[in-house]
Amino acid sequence: MNLIILGAPGAGKGTQGALLAERKGLRQISTGDLLRDAVRRGTALGRKAQSYMNAGELVPDAIILDLAREVIADTDQGFILDGFPRTIVQAEALDPMLAELERPLDGVVVLDVPDDVLVKRISGRRSCPECKAVFNVYFDPPAREGVCDHCGAQLTHRPDDEPETVRRRLEVYRAQTEPLIAYYERSGTPVHYVDGQRGVDAVADAIDDVLEPEPA
Ligand code: AMP
Repeated sequence: MNLIILGAPGAGKGTQGALLAERKGLRQISTGDLLRDAVRRGTALGRKAQSYMNAGELVPDAIILDLAREVIADTDQGFILDGFPRTIVQAEALDPMLAELERPLDGVVVLDVPDDVLVKRISGRRSCPECKAVFNVYFDPPAREGVCDHCGAQLTHRPDDEPETVRRRLEVYRAQTEPLIAYYERSGTPVHYVDGQRGVDAVADAIDDVLEPEPA
């Protein structure tokens, strides 16, 4: 099964993508994670991407398309694309890429979350650089402020999770990424809408339901 998970920053694409990948034996391909890893390692890709990311802007399509092609071609299992495509140009380039690789898309899952919840989810997010645990100062705070419950490391705040950058990322999402929903509706790819406002388990169940509806 090959899927795209779409939603605004903070809608839960990363969390739900990881859970779904585990349940269905798929590979989660997150361009955001791949780029953050490249920035951390100081690679040529990371150096090109860093300033765009810190400003809440999109990394240029050509850079992302090279990265996506390389990772998708290298994956033999089904996949979930998380954070890609993010522009119509990327979606239009993805179609022939998947056709050439003989990996058709089975559907698009859209996570719907209102803006006020998105802003709190993102600006409250703190992550552990060691064990990768994620907390939220509003919804799921660590027992000791700033310290990971699991391994005791100092929690960090992504530079692009600062409130001003979050607002810019939401604007970019509305202008450049949301139109992809209509793009996939028009192309005939099944588009599944899921209310992403509930707890993690409830959203995961709802995704399972839309992907494999109970027989009538
Ligand atoms: P994410 O973790 O998906 O929110 O991505 C974090 C940042 O990485 C975004 O704000 C962009 O700067 C960059 N990025 C990730 N995926 C893409 C993409 N498909 N196209 C352009 N920029 C991207």
